Amino acid sequence: MSQDCLFCRIVARESPAEVVHEDADILAFKDIYPKAPIHVLIVPKRHIDSLARLAAEDTELVGRCLLVARTLGERAGYAERGYRVSCNCGPEGGQVVYHLHFHFTAGRR
Ligand code: AMP
Ligand code: ZN
Repeated sequence: MSQDCLFCRIVARESPAEVVHEDADILAFKDIYPKAPIHVLIVPKRHIDSLARLAAEDTELVGRCLLVARTLGERAGYAERGYRVSCNCGPEGGQVVYHLHFHFTAGRR
């Protein structure tokens, strides 16, 4: 838990967020500035700076983040229509919050 990390504070429930999924290792909450009709951030609870800092032992955690995306898609009725899962990495990848997260967006062609 890093005090100066916004997503660590959200995971610790010290900052507000509209949570749509929680399990032991992952939190998913609505993006505060949605870029699509459905825009959720899927966040491992444990702090990892970015995809560029991913370790081999994190692979299961990342796979489970993608399973959360699948669940969100099914729950929102987008399993067949489809959706996008993306991850911004580093300054030129457009990453703003340096706590690994996946964007789940749906409802926009
Ligand atoms: P990225 O550019 O990939 O680092 O994405 C960071 C995302 O976090 C952006 O889409 C922001 O809109 C979103 N965001 C920033 N602050 C908050 C917050 N307090 N609650 C929810 N989402 C946020
Ligand atoms: Zn963090």
